[in-house]
Amino acid sequence: MIVTVTMNPSIDISYSLDRLNINTVNRTNQVTKTAGGKGLNVARVIHDLQGDVLATGMLGGIHGAFITSELEKAEIKHDFVTIKEETRNSIAVLHEGNQTEILESGPIVSEDEQAKFSDKFRELLDLAEIITISGSLPKGLPHDFYQQLVQAAQAHGVKVLLDTSGVSLEKVLSSQNKPYMIKPNLEELENLLEKTFSLEHLEDIQLALVEPLFKGIEWIIVSLGKEGAIAKHRDMFYRVTIPEINVLNPVGSGDATIAGFAYAMTKKLNPYEILRMCMATGMANARERITGHVDLANVKNYFSKVEVKKS
Ligand code: ADP
Repeated sequence: MIVTVTMNPSIDISYSLDRLNINTVNRTNQVTKTAGGKGLNVARVIHDLQGDVLATGMLGGIHGAFITSELEKAEIKHDFVTIKEETRNSIAVLHEGNQTEILESGPIVSEDEQAKFSDKFRELLDLAEIITISGSLPKGLPHDFYQQLVQAAQAHGVKVLLDTSGVSLEKVLSSQNKPYMIKPNLEELENLLEKTFSLEHLEDIQLALVEPLFKGIEWIIVSLGKEGAIAKHRDMFYRVTIPEINVLNPVGSGDATIAGFAYAMTKKLNPYEILRMCMATGMANARERITGHVDLANVKNYFSKVEVKKS
């Protein structure tokens, strides 16, 4: 089974308006409310691929109950720790071709709740073949919390796919306990290394991936949006290119890439097929309006069109 970890989920609300009027009332009947957070996108895409998945993390209050009911409706297995404070809302107002967002910082997690989650995580390690950890940490948890999870998973022989950024990522990378796979996009890689890269000089990205910071990580996939990806597997580099598609909403494509990778691992695919699969799922997500959703027919079609070359 694949277990997806979402420590700071949210209800993603979008309001579409013809025009955003300031300092007065705006009315709309175009509203969507979905169970959000990067790890939940991963869980949904694995479920769409008909993989065996369980979603875990922390949920609180009536917003938490909404997310649970959405997972039930989608028939996705879940086992979250209940926390006292309310799970956050993330609001996007779509107006005049713009996207204005209001993001709540979310709940503050207590030490007791942290300990409860750590216990649950250890229990789930007995059931998990692969763990995905995605997104930011809620307030109250220490910056090295993901490092603790990676360490526990490693001690259990369970592979961790880690998709986070900033201090939480730095803490993991500077520790002894490396994840099995990371998937920074170009901007995240640039922020991590405090360097800029250009798509005309992809060899510089390859060079950066041999820096000591990444030593011991089996797979690094630097995703490049519509330009595909550069991947490093052990000592081997791959350039992955993808065909142009008609994109409807690329939000969550990175999460779909993680989902495709995890699914491909459970199917024991070879490195070429793993890369094809995770690009195909990223693309298939970009082809949908709904974030964190893929159509199997699109995944199969794109899988056959992704090109993977050693570089
Ligand atoms: P993130 O969402 O983490 O920023 P990317 O934008 O790099 O990640 O997207 C991950 C993958 O999803 C890409 O490597 C690619 O396979 C697919 N993808 C993303 N955007 C597009 C796009 N505009 N057209 C086609 N595929 C895309």
